[in-house]
Amino acid sequence: MQALQVKQMRLTFAVTEVQRLIITAEAVDQMLAFSQHSWYQAEAGGVMLGRHLLESSDVVIDEVTTPQRKDKRSRFGFFRSTNHNRIAQEKWKLSNETLAYLGLWHTHPERDPTPSSVDRQDWEKAVTTHAYYGDRLFFPIVGTQRIRVWTKSRTEPIRELGLLT
Ligand SMILES: [Zn+2]
Repeated sequence: MQALQVKQMRLTFAVTEVQRLIITAEAVDQMLAFSQHSWYQAEAGGVMLGRHLLESSDVVIDEVTTPQRKDKRSRFGFFRSTNHNRIAQEKWKLSNETLAYLGLWHTHPERDPTPSSVDRQDWEKAVTTHAYYGDRLFFPIVGTQRIRVWTKSRTEPIRELGLLT
């Protein structure tokens, strides 16, 4: 661990007029630990786990899975191994089935990240083939200066979420 690592604030995004996506500081820290600040750092990623709040329609990302040995990682590519699904399943069981699968994150070696065509295909496939609660999944990309988040529902195309705080 780096001694001087500054703790991040949580991030809140608008999903709809009545729904927000909240990424906890812990989850933000987990992802930022893999941001590609050096030329030799490969892309990283994983799945996101969290909760659908009962008292509102908000969604909270509590934690993420981090790179696994069987992932295929390069400077401009990340292929998730099935280990992430297994970890997500285990955490879901350990949480008494409250920690839900909410989406996929990965890093990009650019300041202000934008999705590639491979990313978009990956997201489309996730929304149509993965099992999840609710009607949408979330897809952050962690750049070196910014985290941006896209979403796709079962019926809407991919769109970016606006940052609230
Ligand atoms: Zn990408």
